[in-house]
Amino acid sequence: MVLKLPPALIQSLEGIKGFDKEAFVAVHEKAEAITSIRYNPSKLSTVNYQLSTEHVPWSNNGYYLPERPSFTLDPLFHAGTYYVQEASSMFLEEAMRQTLDVSKPLRVLDLCAAPGGKSTLLQSIISSDSLLVSNEVIQSRASVLRENIIKWGSANVVVTNNDPKDFQQLQGFFDVIVADAPCSGSGLFRRDEEAIAEWSEHNVQLCSQRQQRILVDVLPALKEDGILIYSTCSFSIDEDEKIINWLINDCQLSTINCQLKEEWGIVESNGGYRFWPDKIKGEGFFIACFKKNDGMEFSYPRMRAFNKATKQETAVLSRYLDNPQQFEFLPLTDNLFAVPVELVQDVTLLKSLLRIRYAGIEMGTINKHELIPEHALALSVHINKTLPSAQLNKEQALQYLRKQDNLQLELNGMKGWCLMQYEGVNLGWAKLLPNRINNYYPKEWRILK
Ligand code: SAM
Repeated sequence: MVLKLPPALIQSLEGIKGFDKEAFVAVHEKAEAITSIRYNPSKLSTVNYQLSTEHVPWSNNGYYLPERPSFTLDPLFHAGTYYVQEASSMFLEEAMRQTLDVSKPLRVLDLCAAPGGKSTLLQSIISSDSLLVSNEVIQSRASVLRENIIKWGSANVVVTNNDPKDFQQLQGFFDVIVADAPCSGSGLFRRDEEAIAEWSEHNVQLCSQRQQRILVDVLPALKEDGILIYSTCSFSIDEDEKIINWLINDCQLSTINCQLKEEWGIVESNGGYRFWPDKIKGEGFFIACFKKNDGMEFSYPRMRAFNKATKQETAVLSRYLDNPQQFEFLPLTDNLFAVPVELVQDVTLLKSLLRIRYAGIEMGTINKHELIPEHALALSVHINKTLPSAQLNKEQALQYLRKQDNLQLELNGMKGWCLMQYEGVNLGWAKLLPNRINNYYPKEWRILK
């Protein structure tokens, strides 16, 4: 397969630092498919990973795979033990570590978050007392984001479905804003041939204007001295270096440098970092880090507190978590949610201002002193590890993930709610009845293949 790159794109790249026309065209003509995944360190310990040994140099948990397997048919993929992520974009990890003390509690906003690649990465590097607000403006994409966040299993996260300007209500709230902006997509031409047909100089201009609008809208929510990390998967200067100039000149931000190792092959350009696919093992990517030099100080408005769960409900819910004293149980919807104690005030605030799609751990509802557990609880890394569970082989695990009801398992007298596990990792719930097993895998997540 030979990719035909738009001549206007090639022409517009002439003179940009690191652009080598021949090598750039050649690497696109070769159209090599690079597959990389990032493990979930919170779920890693239980599984014996043998998939790959070739490390993505700028990510602790990132690995290249020798070929692309069928992820859909791997139960561990559905259990949130890894995320399939393009290698260049994992550099966000390095950018975070170099510009911030990630061991401290931070409030982080991932503004353009669906399907969740950067958000799951952020979850793995921020401390457990930090808060991640993972936002996606498009409703259908926010559902996919919610699903991937639930699979990753962390509790210190809120998924929102808001327009960037809605965050202006939170002046000076965030320590970090990650804006992985919608762009013209030239960096992904090797994976997405359709994007070539859609590319035009006009669209680059539209994207550049939209990127500026998004940034202007969200910047008030960043505190003074806060960090903005901006990225695109576009090669175009109008969406990359020119946005840097605009952020410096019109928004009074300053760039922060990252230290690069020469062997990484990443090219510094105008204070940002370019990933040319002929120089690194990954796709086209651009990232830049900034400090905000002014800003309002955040103060909490008056808020109405949630009714908390009753003592009885708390006692029932506590049995399902490893360290229940670290959580408060709140009725965020008709269901009860476990929210880390130190984040209750922030979650209350966010719930009063934004469209929240998910927060903490969705536990379920209580009916006659018994919890009807939610799927999210099964996937949480905080679930009580001593709850009843059944080990499934691969065939049974795939049957379960297809939501088939005819599971045949050795139950050894077990009954009631039971965790279905594959290689020691939770896939979801089933209810064991005397004469059958009810499969509670969510219908909308089931494997259709
Ligand atoms: N960060 C994601 C990840 O790593 O998985 C990828 C994000 S993608 C490059 C950009 C996202 O911005 C898309 O999900 C898109 O729906 C969203 N988006 C589109 N228009 C937007 C707007 N006007 N404001 C904010 N986000 C927007």
